[in-house]
Amino acid sequence: MVYDNPDGVMIGLEIHVQLNKLNTKIFCGCSTKYHEAGPNTHVCPVCLGLPGALPVINEKAVESAMKIGLALNCEIVHQTQFHRKNYYYPDLPKGFQTTQYDYPIAGEGRVVIEGEDGEHVVRITRAHMEEDPGRLVHIGTIEKSRGTLIDYNRSGMALIEVVTEPDMRSPKEARRFLDKLRNILEYLDVFDSSLEGAMRVDANISIGGGSRAEVKNISSHKGAERALLFEIIRQKNLLRRGGTVVLETRHFDEARGVTISLRTKEEEHDYRYFPEPDLVPMRVADRTARILGTLPELPDAKRERFIAEYGMIDMHAKALTSGIRIADFYEDVASRIDAKTCTPWVADVLKGELNYRDLTIESFTVDDIVGIIEMVVSDKITEKSAVEVIRTILDSGGHPLDIVKEKGLLKVEDDVVSRAVLKVINENEVAVADYLGGKEQSLNFLVGQVMKKTRGRADAREAREMVLESLNQ
Ligand SMILES: [Zn+2]
Repeated sequence: MVYDNPDGVMIGLEIHVQLNKLNTKIFCGCSTKYHEAGPNTHVCPVCLGLPGALPVINEKAVESAMKIGLALNCEIVHQTQFHRKNYYYPDLPKGFQTTQYDYPIAGEGRVVIEGEDGEHVVRITRAHMEEDPGRLVHIGTIEKSRGTLIDYNRSGMALIEVVTEPDMRSPKEARRFLDKLRNILEYLDVFDSSLEGAMRVDANISIGGGSRAEVKNISSHKGAERALLFEIIRQKNLLRRGGTVVLETRHFDEARGVTISLRTKEEEHDYRYFPEPDLVPMRVADRTARILGTLPELPDAKRERFIAEYGMIDMHAKALTSGIRIADFYEDVASRIDAKTCTPWVADVLKGELNYRDLTIESFTVDDIVGIIEMVVSDKITEKSAVEVIRTILDSGGHPLDIVKEKGLLKVEDDVVSRAVLKVINENEVAVADYLGGKEQSLNFLVGQVMKKTRGRADAREAREMVLESLNQ
């Protein structure tokens, strides 16, 4: 199947990733652990941009940026340099942002996603380093705010901005790209996606070869998909009424699910970029080989290994490598229980129940799932009961064995079931006669009665076989 992109949708993304696993900010020694702290408590003359304060580059930030570049299959430049991007905004007290311009640390690369019609390549234009500005907190909504507060704790956090070509053809593909990028970054252990502001997305979108609009500062992957869906409809309606889409910057109002025009977009020359005189150019080429050697196994490679090593199908391998924590969780389980047995329990059952509740794998322990699978394998509980135990743990906690005992889920012995079968057959002469006379549905009724007598603890398939056996004697 080939996806023919009926509306001619072209989406490009610019993603700001905060390197929030570093201990200090990009150009000063301020701690990055400000998320629980009061406003303006993690600041110094450098990140407040006070006159005369000089930046010192964080070496680990450079190495993290190189890791990201390599993981996105980018060319790492020989030498990189910082520039000043000049503009005034209250979150940027220096009057310029220190960023990279014509020598970004990472050049062209590529990421393969699950596209509308199978594997789809999204080209990476570049990935560069820059500092995060402070955070503006608008009182009320952005268009009708009564006032704005500024917190400089975020100012000077190391950012990587990943820029893609407009290669995504639908909001769904954009979301898949974001998921894949987050996954790669978590494998690299360079950022924690659960922290506020860890990943912020600007999306540009055009339809039918027209002008593009840019939607700024979307904070979630779901939000990105919704903002893009809204933009497609807005642009289509505009064109249908004879209007034209103008090059502009729009804001996505997450609560209302709409985009609002903020300003016409600046051109690059408006920023008067010039080389940052306080930071020397950095020659990074001689580190590339060493850093390449430190890269962990990345999602695509892990997926292939799972298929080869554990003999699982591609769908399971995708589910189990969709995050580094679920991948590690699975390998722990597979070291204790045969892979063929445990794979569907983790990939289908547990992951399905987690997704349904919007939970992550941290909500479950390896010991618990191993215990549950072992009870099924040793025939102590039915598969249906095992699912019930998993659900109970997720909804209200507890230990598998306690839950099994409390809920009376231990499978009843065969003789209890056979006694129930005999009783049911004796008590239901009409249904038995009906079945023997050719009425197939009566069998279901009889099996149902057996399940009722054993209070659902019999295995339905076994009960059915035992009823059939008795009837055919
Ligand atoms: Zn500082």
